Amino acid sequence: MTFLKVQGLSKSFGGVQAARDVSFEVGAGQLVALIGPNGAGKSTTFNMLGGQLLPDRGGVELDGKKITGLGPRRIWRAGVGRTFQITATFASLTVAGNVQAALMSAHRRLLDPFSWAEGLYRDEAAALAKRVGLERAIDRPVGELAYGDLKRVELALALAGKPRLLLMDEPTAGMAAHERADLMAQVAELAKAENVGVLFTEHDMDAVFTHADHVLVLHQGAIVARGTPEEIRADSHVRAIYLGTAA
Ligand code: ADP
Ligand code: MG
Repeated sequence: MTFLKVQGLSKSFGGVQAARDVSFEVGAGQLVALIGPNGAGKSTTFNMLGGQLLPDRGGVELDGKKITGLGPRRIWRAGVGRTFQITATFASLTVAGNVQAALMSAHRRLLDPFSWAEGLYRDEAAALAKRVGLERAIDRPVGELAYGDLKRVELALALAGKPRLLLMDEPTAGMAAHERADLMAQVAELAKAENVGVLFTEHDMDAVFTHADHVLVLHQGAIVARGTPEEIRADSHVRAIYLGTAA
């Protein structure tokens, strides 16, 4: 069952066409990788889906409902989540505290100290932390965590909004190789278990080929190849793009 439908998205910045006629679909529980060299237009595409950027042309539908042009907050309410870097404000809060805050926000509760004192969403926060592999760090301040664990907290915060589609623009940037593999495996498992669609980009081709159900290759703003990991791996044009020898 398809629930995200991206149709003909285009975006120019001055003379640079960062996205041209980008069309694809993401189904429930499906992991779709959007790959391509630096400057290919991946972040531009993510930002148009998340509402941070308005497309020049084209549209995005979630369950047949147009979400193009809605602001980031309304797109998030419609079920499109994304990972954000944790800001310094929340660094002194524990992992559980951060997830609780995200759950309160998702439930439209004010971030007031009484809710915290009552332990509002405490159990739900602990369960979510566990699901992203942070059981051992639940009561640690986020500011003390290793980088890889911080990325897991960011994933938990994105999941707190119960997204139907999760956007992950380089979720493992800066992580050690083994941590990257772990995190992507966890994301894949969550996507399948909770029927969440995931659109992600990732430099580590092993992670892409291991976990993606479908791969889209962007080059100079356009999708130039799409298929299963096996098909993309065997595509000589894709190889040429990555080697910098493609036209
Ligand atoms: P990727 O994420 O694949 O590395 P981007 O989407 O960030 O690529 O960028 C695609 C192209 O659009 C690049 O040429 C980049 O320089 C340009 N670009 C992206 N954002 C802006 C912006 N806000 N203003 C001007 N040019 C931009
Ligand atoms: Mg980018």
